Amino acid sequence: MTTLRSGHIIKLMPTDIGTYKAIRDNLIDNSINHYTYKLKSERAYRVVIRGLHATEDTTMIKAELNSKGHEVRQIVNVLHRTTKEKLPLYFVDLEPRTNNKDIFNIKHINHVKVHIEAPYKKKEVLQCKRCQRFGHSKNQCFRPFRCVKCGNEHSTTSCVKPPETEATCANCQGKHPASYKGCIKYMQYKEKIFKTEPKSRQTKQQLHKATQQQQSINENAKPTPRPSTTYSDILKNRQNNFKKQPINATIVEPGPQDNITSLLDTMFNKFQAIMKDMIDNMMDQMIKLITRLAPQRD
Ligand SMILES: [Zn+2]
Ligand SMILES: [Zn+2]
Ligand SMILES: [Zn+2]
Repeated sequence: MTTLRSGHIIKLMPTDIGTYKAIRDNLIDNSINHYTYKLKSERAYRVVIRGLHATEDTTMIKAELNSKGHEVRQIVNVLHRTTKEKLPLYFVDLEPRTNNKDIFNIKHINHVKVHIEAPYKKKEVLQCKRCQRFGHSKNQCFRPFRCVKCGNEHSTTSCVKPPETEATCANCQGKHPASYKGCIKYMQYKEKIFKTEPKSRQTKQQLHKATQQQQSINENAKPTPRPSTTYSDILKNRQNNFKKQPINATIVEPGPQDNITSLLDTMFNKFQAIMKDMIDNMMDQMIKLITRLAPQRD
């Protein structure tokens, strides 16, 4: 078991579930102030029942589900958000079992036609409050801070940008805060994930594949030796570049020395941009993996 000490807080990380449960029970028994992450195997399986009348007796629903082999942890009658009126809608939390999914086959409860479905997941983009990138939260982020207001490398709370000056987006460099929902990067990301997100959770195979891709990215990320360039290559390149120039462009032909320097500059800039993209990509994948593997707090 690993232990970490920071100030007056001690973090315990047991290696197996047995130890975890023993420690937790002990803390509870002795009323020791603590918090913990709920084990995935202990989290309730939530479904929504539509069709039952709002005044239905929840004990009856519970009993009927029980008789069909589903152990109910709790049933909540959903209230209207503003009027607080009871709705013909129930949240049911089942004890996690292998037959949980069978509940979707139930078509009648107490002779009333019902529809049982998975709870609606909000289509929201997760944006990191630390680095302003998308797809992870600040708790999983180890990147340098980027300010939501000015885009510079400091935490938003320590920003000294006067309110009357324009904001700069950390993601697109546009004149808006990085949290702006009209940001082109935000919209592109949203479109990408909601088009491609798989319906179910990633399977182990997919996770394995992601790890393999990660490895191959790591290998690709090894710096490649810079290709040696001969003067004739540069000339050839220059001629090609000239062909691509629009006709009305004014071309100032640089001397050979300038040419080599600017070519190296361009190459270096491109190399830098590629590396930056690669590292960004790797970080995204790593954070995604960590998020999937780490237990979530309920
Ligand atoms: Zn981040
Ligand atoms: Zn700032
Ligand atoms: Zn933006």
